[in-house]
Amino acid sequence: MDQFNPVTQQIVTQLERIAGAEHVLTSSFDIEPYTHDETEDLQYTPEAVVKPRATEQISEIMRLCSAGRVPVTPRGGGTGLSGGALPVRGGVVLSLERMNGILEIDTKNFMAVCEPGVITQNLHEAAEALGLFYPPDPASRASCTLGGNLAECAGGPRTLKYGVTRDYVRGLEAVLPNGDIINTGGKLLKNVTGYDLTQLLIGSEGTLAVITKIIVRLIPLPRLRRTLLAPFSSLDHATAALNAIFMNRIFPCAAEFMERDAIQNAVRMLDRPFPCSDAHALLLLELDGDDETVIQADIERAGQACLDGGASDVLVAESPAKQEQLWSVRRAMGEAVKKHSAYREEDTVVPRAMLPELVRAIKDVAARHGIRTICYGHAGDGNIHCNIVKSALSEQEWKTKLPGAVTELHKIVVAMGGTLSGEHGIGCLQNNHLPLAVGRAELELMKGIKKVFDPLGILNPGKVFPDNDVV
Ligand SMILES: Cc1cc2nc3c(=O)[nH]c(=O)nc-3n(C[C@H](O)[C@H](O)[C@H](O)COP(=O)(O)OP(=O)(O)OC[C@H]3O[C@@H](n4cnc5c(N)ncnc54)[C@H](O)[C@@H]3O)c2cc1C
Repeated sequence: MDQFNPVTQQIVTQLERIAGAEHVLTSSFDIEPYTHDETEDLQYTPEAVVKPRATEQISEIMRLCSAGRVPVTPRGGGTGLSGGALPVRGGVVLSLERMNGILEIDTKNFMAVCEPGVITQNLHEAAEALGLFYPPDPASRASCTLGGNLAECAGGPRTLKYGVTRDYVRGLEAVLPNGDIINTGGKLLKNVTGYDLTQLLIGSEGTLAVITKIIVRLIPLPRLRRTLLAPFSSLDHATAALNAIFMNRIFPCAAEFMERDAIQNAVRMLDRPFPCSDAHALLLLELDGDDETVIQADIERAGQACLDGGASDVLVAESPAKQEQLWSVRRAMGEAVKKHSAYREEDTVVPRAMLPELVRAIKDVAARHGIRTICYGHAGDGNIHCNIVKSALSEQEWKTKLPGAVTELHKIVVAMGGTLSGEHGIGCLQNNHLPLAVGRAELELMKGIKKVFDPLGILNPGKVFPDNDVV
């Protein structure tokens, strides 16, 4: 366990003093839910879990763990897909689940101030009740937290039009590994005052500081929404049609791609019918806005572009209930793949226009290595979740074939101008592949930043950086 010390009874007693005895877990039964997240089959057991309620408590916990050289792993909703919240070096899991208050929705400045444990969907609903809109919408929004979203810079279907989490965060309160509390930014739309520490912490995967308060920008809620589903007879036709939609200057708020196996797994799991579920590939498009005439014209042009691109049909869902039926199947795809087979998910992302090449490359790599892939994802962002599934492979075949296929896929993606992860992060899943996408000089800069924030390396060790790159 490198330079770290174990969690002693003395430290447990101190954690209990700080957070309250009922908020410190040490028995294997209580700790079990914190040994895994949603990443495949990874499992790591912390020595203790602490669930503080206030920033000052987190500050004290960090001071205690710094003094004792005990690793601390922040955790939000535990929905991460790169093992970010897993305590790979043991120590303490610091769960933000009790810090779940929406402190303010400021309708004059269009800002919300939230604690990090707020479930993302709760902020969506609270803002929408006031006619405001917080666009970042990871498909896990019913169980992930804002803190986790910031740490991973979460995206989601609406990224295409509205951007990712970092585009909405205007200020933060955070606790450094040594216990110091910092404040960055504010309810400001503009701010060029020194280096942008807010943006540095976003996407830092809980390795630089514990985020304890979040200020996000809100925008007016679009009044109208239309969802379009188009079935295609090949993956190529679907991805090419999407490019045609953009070339026609139509800008959906979401453009999702789903291949047949992904749809059928989700339909089976949910046990509910889905239109055109036997198509080779489907595009699910959403357009939003305030002007009925404009949105109607755009949906017709998008539908026509799909038909011109080879869609066998175009279905439009106008009512919120029908739209939700379509989206619920899309959101269930991750869980459905997991239920179907052991798998490894690659969060491939390329420049959007390269999407047809990306999907073709994924299938070529799969064929060359004798593996199966199930693809779906945020096609409008060039971000495809490529699930390599074990299916009928023996344990031995799976272990032999997987690493080569993953490395080859990463190399191809990087050669296309893409990178390893669009939204799931590096964590402890992709850390050893980081040098494929990040040059030596850039990696050294990142290591330097980590050292400035966390000289003892106690905050979320074993993440982001390659195992042999000691930070
Ligand atoms: C079915 C499903 C669908 C998904 N769809 C999407 C999607 O569409 N888009 C997308 O981007 N992701 C998606 N994800 C991945 C995941 O939901 C996101 O990465 C999400 O942002 C994680 O949030 P969380 O609260 O669960 O974080 P956790 O998994 O608990 O933690 C993730 C990382 O954040 C760190 N962290 C958590 N809270 C804090 C904090 N307060 N301070 C500092 N660090 C912290 C942790 O240490 C860890 O490194 C999906 C996951 C699932 C299971």
